[in-house]
Amino acid sequence: ALILGIESSCDETAVAVIDDTGATLESRIVAQRIASQDAEHRPYGGVVPEIAARAHVEVIAPMVAATLADAGLGLDDVDAIAATAGPGLIGGVMVGLVTGKALAMAANKPLLAINHLEGHALSPRLADPDLAYPYLLLLVSGGHCQILEVRGLGDYRRLATTIDDALGEAFDKTAKILGLGYPGGPAVERLSREGNPRAVPLPRPLVGSGEPHFSFAGLKSAVLRAYESGLYQPADLAASFQQAALDCIIDRTRIALEACGPVNALVVAGGVAANQSLRAALETLAGKSGLRLVAPPPRLCTDNAAMIGWAGAERFARGQVDPLDVAARPRWPLDADAQPVRGAGV
Ligand code: ATP
Ligand code: MG
Ligand code: FE
Repeated sequence: ALILGIESSCDETAVAVIDDTGATLESRIVAQRIASQDAEHRPYGGVVPEIAARAHVEVIAPMVAATLADAGLGLDDVDAIAATAGPGLIGGVMVGLVTGKALAMAANKPLLAINHLEGHALSPRLADPDLAYPYLLLLVSGGHCQILEVRGLGDYRRLATTIDDALGEAFDKTAKILGLGYPGGPAVERLSREGNPRAVPLPRPLVGSGEPHFSFAGLKSAVLRAYESGLYQPADLAASFQQAALDCIIDRTRIALEACGPVNALVVAGGVAANQSLRAALETLAGKSGLRLVAPPPRLCTDNAAMIGWAGAERFARGQVDPLDVAARPRWPLDADAQPVRGAGV
């Protein structure tokens, strides 16, 4: 099927056309565009919700038109329209969802209201359709840090979550401490290559605990104290932070692999999955567990509409379409209460 995907839950406006019959990744993503708002938010050091919502409004309709033109398709040619319905910044989510509803109504096409986290969770299957359920998913993004057993479409068992900050948030806060600007994750990764990961003694919160949960607030505070001590170079701080964070991730994921049922692969997704050191460390862990690691190409890890279109395609194939009065949801956990909510409610 041909699915138009729309994403606007944070600070990228993204539109894509997905063809789930494509034999290669290039042919499955018929067209995709991403407009990042990084420049608008940079002066504030983080995403400002009101600015984000306005910026989505300004670009979304022309982007739909341009993406369809890139694909050489008209709206009538697509089989369904998939839009992120949450979780995320509610103003932005509403812009994309209302756009999806309007297009669905105008062209008389089914609407698919997609959970942004399901988009991330299934993005590895867009990259590699041979990836069969069930798999163990490390979902590491700006707002989430979770380990989920992905048993099937819409069937997610959460094994672990963070008790404070998300991993991407920890990268972004470390970048802010080091004056690397916004968005911080890629900048911390770049600077880490020039530093010594053993130079700064930093804690590994929760490492060794029996439950695979995460905590990064203490690590961030330790980075701040080390920075303020004036004893360390920024590159050493970045490298030592990244090493400590990865040590936590690997230890926690190893515990989860012991706790979960049989799985076909270890999978990583979400914005931080773009980090090459994380991918390398997970590759080693997967090898030790006799599993393969599946990690989407970095451009499919950070927010995009191809993953939303793909999740829409999986739902469309099972006839799981949504009513036009489906609500936008600022919070929408993947593992519980997974059914769409109707009504205007936010
Ligand atoms: P969520 O998906 O939880 O709603 P989000 O959509 O804002 O949050 P993503 O776009 O999936 O998050 O990921 C963005 C996060 O990924 C940011 O915190 C960013 O710093 C981080 N990130 C991106 N690239 C890298 C990298 N190479 N290394 C580390 N972190 C990275
Ligand atoms: Mg972003
Ligand atoms: Fe995201």
